[in-house]
Amino acid sequence: MAQTQKTELSIPTATISRLVTYLRILTNLEKSGVNRTSSDQLAEEAQVSAFQVRKDLAYFGRFGTRGMGYTVLTLRRELQRILGLNRHWNVVIIGMGRLGQALADYPGYKENNLYDFNLKGLFDIDPAKIGMTMHGITVSHVNDLEQLVREQNIDMGFLTVPVEKAQDAADALIKAGIKGILNFAPTVLEVGEDVAVEQVDFMAGMKRLAFYILNPHLKALKEDEE
Ligand code: NAD
Repeated sequence: MAQTQKTELSIPTATISRLVTYLRILTNLEKSGVNRTSSDQLAEEAQVSAFQVRKDLAYFGRFGTRGMGYTVLTLRRELQRILGLNRHWNVVIIGMGRLGQALADYPGYKENNLYDFNLKGLFDIDPAKIGMTMHGITVSHVNDLEQLVREQNIDMGFLTVPVEKAQDAADALIKAGIKGILNFAPTVLEVGEDVAVEQVDFMAGMKRLAFYILNPHLKALKEDEE
């Protein structure tokens, strides 16, 4: 269809965020025993317009049947495939301080048939932390990163080092062959075009929240501008 070229060129990051939301909604519908859904229903639950739902899905092809809506199971599987969640992903954490340890402690990285992220390695540079075992994984020195990435096919790294060390640690991840970084350090990383970075920043969220509390008449725009 006409949108095919667009898929290869550019897709709004907001669309990818909404696909993750649609996938969660579809998963919940499926768990509730619902077999069919519509762009109206997805839109209502995602708090966007049905037009936006159709536009987001159209980047990736045709789903559902005109007037009949979508089969929940099929669309859920399609979104999983598009997002790459039908395979497993191996993850390392760089920086085993407060945040790194909390992330290593998180029990929800995999859910049967829905997503499968495997924590495979923990890294630091502090001799006091290297050799410690956390959640069954021994903390290694960053110098050993490349070997683990090669041996265990590591796909992504969580970056939880102090901000002034973030670029160095990112460079180490990239040199080791990692193509995706979940960056918790509050800084913009310089990476090549073949490396994806997702920024996670709860402090930024608090600052946006302060703005919206003070400006309740300014609704956050959840959809693309027409
Ligand atoms: P921390 O000081 O407790 O831990 C940092 C760890 O990184 C230490 O163990 C240190 O030895 C290690 N380290 C330093 N340089 C390294 C390197 N080059 N390679 C590997 N390890 C290295 O810090 P924290 O409180 O856990 O915070 C970590 C980062 O996360 C900071 O950048 C902080 O600003 C950020 N942070 C982000 C969020 C968020 O929402 N995104 C929330 C809290 C903290």
